[in-house]
Amino acid sequence: MVEAAGLVGSGQVEPDAPQYNATLVARSDENSSLGYFTIRLDGDPVPFEPGQYMTIGVMAGGRMVQRPYSVASSPRTAGNGYELYIRLVEGGQFTPLLWQLPLGHRMRMIGPKGKFTLQPDDPRTHLFISSGTGNAPFVSMIRTQIVDGLSRPVLFLNGVSYTEELGYRALVEGWQRDRTFPLTYLPTVSRAADPRNAGWTGRIGRVEAIVEPVCREFGLTPDNAIAYLCGNPDMILNAHATFQALGFAEEAIRKELYWPKGKEPKLAAAEGIDPAVNDDE
Ligand SMILES: Cc1cc2nc3c(=O)[nH]c(=O)nc-3n(C[C@H](O)[C@H](O)[C@H](O)COP(=O)(O)OP(=O)(O)OC[C@H]3O[C@@H](n4cnc5c(N)ncnc54)[C@H](O)[C@@H]3O)c2cc1C
Repeated sequence: MVEAAGLVGSGQVEPDAPQYNATLVARSDENSSLGYFTIRLDGDPVPFEPGQYMTIGVMAGGRMVQRPYSVASSPRTAGNGYELYIRLVEGGQFTPLLWQLPLGHRMRMIGPKGKFTLQPDDPRTHLFISSGTGNAPFVSMIRTQIVDGLSRPVLFLNGVSYTEELGYRALVEGWQRDRTFPLTYLPTVSRAADPRNAGWTGRIGRVEAIVEPVCREFGLTPDNAIAYLCGNPDMILNAHATFQALGFAEEAIRKELYWPKGKEPKLAAAEGIDPAVNDDE
């Protein structure tokens, strides 16, 4: 199984296939391993709720290789395509294939799925807590609220190793600066001493480690706040435990895990684990 996964990862992507129903129409790179991909469906766009995900795939090595991704764009602009914010996982089965695709390449996109969505008219302060590319669903939620002329108070935490991994930073800082949306952006870098983070004056440490201090600083309690957690499983489990200790009810700790805890790329492949299957499905 491990060898098979390696073959698929290095295989040729088929340029066309009957399963393809979408086209890669735009791509920009945050850095060499983080990219924004816009994929447009052939027909009418399918409606989705901000926070939901789509599954994209290509044919390679004689089979469909596909993975789920949170949509970062708003459903209000789905006619232009669905923007996804993706990390290249070395040794992964799908992302090395995706990184090879030229603009205009055909692919498959199905969905939406997922229950990681905003509760209607919830007046509580929203703690959006993400690691890495886990900020994508939150960007969709805020973009949509802006288009719809709605808002809710948000503290937007994003944890990365290096400042260059702070995807959507300029966009979110712009919303905060212009008061387009009532949010406070709190990025944090975990490898503060690394030369790549030279000059960083923001928060330091893993995002789950700043949860408790941030709650204290902003006066957030189980009575006035709700937490949304998205990204890597260790971050989510640690942040979940912190919120439980602070007295938050389970309904006020909402979670989207990007992969099963403790699964590395080759292990996941060897065990036949499908990361498309999420806890909430
Ligand atoms: C509901 C849902 C939404 C998701 N949304 C996104 C998204 O918006 N952006 C995104 O980049 N990924 C997202 N993922 C993860 C994505 O589906 C793939 O798991 C990931 O792109 C790796 O695929 P792969 O085939 O290259 O690696 P695989 O061969 O499947 O290896 C998977 C392993 O790679 C590691 N891994 C997976 N995702 C990441 C990551 N983002 N950063 C670091 N290591 C990782 C884990 O160890 C995991 O077990 C999401 C997953 C789920 C379940």
